[in-house]
Amino acid sequence: MPTLRQLVLEAVRVLEAAEVPSPEVDARELVLFALGLGRTALLTRAHEEMTPPDTARVMALVQRRAARIPLQHLLGEVEWGGVRLKSDARALVPRPETEVLLELALASLATTHAPPLPRVLDIGTGTGAIALGIKRARPDAEVWATDLSAAALELARENAEWNGLTVNFVQGSLFDALAGPFDLIVSNPPYLPESDRLSAQPEVRHDPALALYSGPDGLDLPRQLVRQAASFLSPGGTLLLELDPRNVTILAQEMTDWHVEVLPDLTGRRRFLRARR
Ligand code: SAM
Ligand code: GLN
Repeated sequence: MPTLRQLVLEAVRVLEAAEVPSPEVDARELVLFALGLGRTALLTRAHEEMTPPDTARVMALVQRRAARIPLQHLLGEVEWGGVRLKSDARALVPRPETEVLLELALASLATTHAPPLPRVLDIGTGTGAIALGIKRARPDAEVWATDLSAAALELARENAEWNGLTVNFVQGSLFDALAGPFDLIVSNPPYLPESDRLSAQPEVRHDPALALYSGPDGLDLPRQLVRQAASFLSPGGTLLLELDPRNVTILAQEMTDWHVEVLPDLTGRRRFLRARR
């Protein structure tokens, strides 16, 4: 019978063969999750022999990851931006780069001219990630969140309840059924060019297409959002967008009646747009 350590090594081997991008991390996470063990077990119980049912349970889960189901779907949750989010096929798996967007949102709410009790809107909330991250850090904010997808909103509501946070959820396209003004409008909209579908990583195919693609240059929805945002911002209010490094400058240049800054992500790529009127 394999020891815990041997089981992890076998999982790494299977994930490597399936070209999973981070085989070691994923193998450890899946083995611990399948066995209901904490991280320290990898040290304290490394040489313990695993029973055949335990081994079978681990390898069944590892095989699903080898089939390129996202790790977050298999674990059922993800820690993101200070909140724990349930993650499944109903909404996009929240990405690490979007944690920077959350930081930019919180920084904008913390400047000296930001109002007390700010009104904030997250457009295309998905799992609820950005809205919930903001509400956790700023309980004084009145946070609104919208999505066109009923399934995503259902998951976002579950996540709000799970974290004990209150956010006002609205179903609709962009600003439908919303009343301004908002001091901060933040969005990680679908922004990939339609042609990226063909080259998407297998994991990305488990994200809803509605969350990812937006016309030939990825800017169909972001352009509409910017056009409508002006009339929903309070005077001095801020619009924050995550975009693709290939199209963020294009949109920034189109926003001639805005004051726009393009900001980098953690890998230095031009990724975010911060705009005021
Ligand atoms: N905010 C989440 C995050 O950062 O993890 C999800 C972002 S995902 C890239 C984009 C979201 O926009 C999806 O949840 C999608 O359903 C939503 N969406 C797509 N079209 C929309 C529209 N016309 N109006 C509002 N939301 C839309
Ligand atoms: N960053 C995501 C990806 O590359 C795309 C998210 C989006 O379209 N907003 O899969």
